[in-house]
Amino acid sequence: MESFPFLAAKVILLLLAVALLAEYLSRRRALQGESAQNKARQQQLMEFSHELKTLKRNLLRKTEIAEMIPLIAKKLTFTDKLSDDAFPAIAVRAAKDFFHAKQAGFFVPIEGSPDYTLEVGVGFPQDWQGKIMIKSDEGILGMALQKKLVISRLDSLSSSGRRLSQTSLENLNVVPDFVAPVFGISGITGALVIAGSPLNLEEERKYISMLADLLSTAIKHANLVDSTVTKTWVDHLTGLSNRLYFMQRFESEIRRAENYGEPMALFMFDIDEFKNINDSYGHAAGDQVIKKLAEISRLNTRSSDLVGRYGGDEFMVLMTSSNREQAQTYADKLREKISCTDIRIPGYPNPVRLTISGGLAVYPSNGLSTTELLNAADSALYDAKRKGRNKMVVAQSLGLDGAIIPGHGPEEEKPIPSDLVGEILREVDIPLPKKIVNKGYPPER
Ligand code: GH3
Ligand code: MG
Repeated sequence: MESFPFLAAKVILLLLAVALLAEYLSRRRALQGESAQNKARQQQLMEFSHELKTLKRNLLRKTEIAEMIPLIAKKLTFTDKLSDDAFPAIAVRAAKDFFHAKQAGFFVPIEGSPDYTLEVGVGFPQDWQGKIMIKSDEGILGMALQKKLVISRLDSLSSSGRRLSQTSLENLNVVPDFVAPVFGISGITGALVIAGSPLNLEEERKYISMLADLLSTAIKHANLVDSTVTKTWVDHLTGLSNRLYFMQRFESEIRRAENYGEPMALFMFDIDEFKNINDSYGHAAGDQVIKKLAEISRLNTRSSDLVGRYGGDEFMVLMTSSNREQAQTYADKLREKISCTDIRIPGYPNPVRLTISGGLAVYPSNGLSTTELLNAADSALYDAKRKGRNKMVVAQSLGLDGAIIPGHGPEEEKPIPSDLVGEILREVDIPLPKKIVNKGYPPER
């Protein structure tokens, strides 16, 4: 039997142990509570930091947008000096920077085909430009063109948009973030494609719409300016300056020549016996011949000079800073070039050749005004026709009182090769229609 003190000590120890255990358990519980609280706080802190990061990112993006939009708008709205094909390149570059995209491109319809191709792009394979053919009714591109709306890769594709069996952008490993249709005055002119952007597409949608709208407005504006200029200043058949534009430039070039004390020359020429072309091949073929002649003249004239169609089969060339000798050399070269160029007429196997007669007037010796110079060139041209055609005649030089200066009478250019004398239209080894044969041209086939 244990002694009382020993038993009491045991009981006290037991009580102490129980008290310690209780203390331990209560502290552990308290610590566990604190740790859970700490975890919750940590979680809150992480969420807060994430929110802060998002806010910071959004703020940076908003600042970037606020800085970039005015610059892009400026580039796409100062449109007066640019033609419509300059704007897609500006928009593509702006889109790539704006959306931090890997690829940005402007895709346009291929003439005479339902497919689209890349007109200008950044980040696309080099050989895509003008060559790649993409179905315009497939994938995101197809849907954007069909709905005439900005489509993002997050939009669910309609049945036509989902059909990716053929050559869609997606099948060529381009996954567009956005495709935005772009409009000119006569409808859709192309589509802006953005791919590989790390930004939030939903938030960026309004900006791609804005960019496509700016590009559309710029293109429409340029289309309108172009068509107004074309209607007003350009000869519709040949694409050369028309008489109205030519005369305005002529006026201002005379003033310039006077101010700078420089010579200038006016070469007026007319196709020889052109009626025969119309009569033999028809008016449409005659038009083609006039177009071809305009093209030869333009290609053989300095870019600083101006070729215009005065009307019918009559053309004019304004040669700035050119004296009599330089102008004579040019005019005769052009006459020769035309006379030895084969001109093809659709539906006829063999080409025809034409000749021209020309009159040259030089500022200031043949006149000081447009009227005087025109009259001088016109009467020289008349002389060239009268003397047998396929000639170039230089106008008479006038003294201050209008008298002809001795030694400066009508000047004829080089003698005409005998086989061309009197010949207006000649075909080379070709059968000629009856009317021409009757006029003494090469024999019928
Ligand atoms: P010449 O050597 O005297 O110049 O003889 P020509 O036959 O060329 O006569 P002229 O220059 O007087 O007449 C030009 C003809 O060109 C008259 C007209 O029938 C024709 N013509 C004028 N404008 C056009 C046009 O836009 N297209 C076509 N196909 N023919 C035109
Ligand atoms: Mg003529």
